[in-house]
Amino acid sequence: MDQNVFRDPQIARQFIKRLQQQAEQLPRRVTLMEVCGTHTMAIHQHGLRSLLPEQVRLVSGPGCPVCVTPVGYIDHAVALARSPGITLATFGDMVRVPGSTTSLLEEKARGADIRIVYSPLDAVKLAQNNPERQIVFLGIGFETTTPTVAGAIVQAQTLDLPNFSVLCAHKTMPEPMSALTADKELQVDGYLCPANVSTIIGVDAYRPLAEQYGVCCVVTGFEPLDILQGISMLLEQLCTAACTVENQYSRYVKEQGNTKAQALIAKVFSPCDSQWRGLGLIPGSGLEIRAEFHNYDAAQKFSVEIEPAREAKGCCCGEILKGKLGPRQCPLFGTRCTPENPVGACMVSSEGTCAAEYRYGC
Ligand code: SF4
Repeated sequence: MDQNVFRDPQIARQFIKRLQQQAEQLPRRVTLMEVCGTHTMAIHQHGLRSLLPEQVRLVSGPGCPVCVTPVGYIDHAVALARSPGITLATFGDMVRVPGSTTSLLEEKARGADIRIVYSPLDAVKLAQNNPERQIVFLGIGFETTTPTVAGAIVQAQTLDLPNFSVLCAHKTMPEPMSALTADKELQVDGYLCPANVSTIIGVDAYRPLAEQYGVCCVVTGFEPLDILQGISMLLEQLCTAACTVENQYSRYVKEQGNTKAQALIAKVFSPCDSQWRGLGLIPGSGLEIRAEFHNYDAAQKFSVEIEPAREAKGCCCGEILKGKLGPRQCPLFGTRCTPENPVGACMVSSEGTCAAEYRYGC
């Protein structure tokens, strides 16, 4: 245990003792899943898994947005990058994700115009400053980033910008949790629900999941003590066989979430089925740009030929994103696949399970 990361090591010791006591009351070994990539990072960084009792198995889920974006989307982005007159604007991690045969980084080295931006609004500015180019922003991620992309599309419409669009692969969070809960092989008993996503969607968003499947949910913050407390709250629910939805992160997350951000998302996007790397097609788990904004939908605006998607041979990202395998069970981990030369998406993003394991071990 890294004592320095706990503001109050005494409280940390109490939590760990409490976890041991709760684990002794469990009827069997239980599986908990952290769904958020930032939780995965924090758990690895602070060695929290090593503090858990034997009866508690903590697995990582599909909470890293770059990791769950399918190969076909990268191939689509590559096809756009190869098209004359198009400039791609994207967050940095995306350029390193391997597609079927190449990555955006390789395409950039071959001369494609691909710019790294820090916000979708930077891409809008790029479009204003380069009227002769078509600027396509790569819109990926969960409810945390979707409002800013919605805001960028609204701003482009307000400015009447003809050369800005978004290649949309936004996803929503509760649906994959339902898909994973329904997977009998996995048997998830409880979820550490994602913190940032929950600030937008609110605690109530998980209630249908808990009610339908009888699975325990605790919205949990990112600090090491938050995570230990979140796990303790899950164990308490499991010990008393009273699965429900609780909020450990009430200092930021409200029951109904951020209703203004939800309204902005609903104005620009509508729900759709979505393809997830490793999890396949999940009904209602994605967002598509509404017809009123179709001028800003790159998939509608540009017709490109996309090669059939091919997963990297030997890569186990799919099983890792479902929590069925750990990174070290992939034969390519640390040999053919490293952060410098990633084979799969889970080794690219700093929030990816393989990247976190490579960096911190556990
Ligand atoms: Fe995929 Fe690399 Fe992780 Fe293996 S180690 S699952 S190849 S990302």
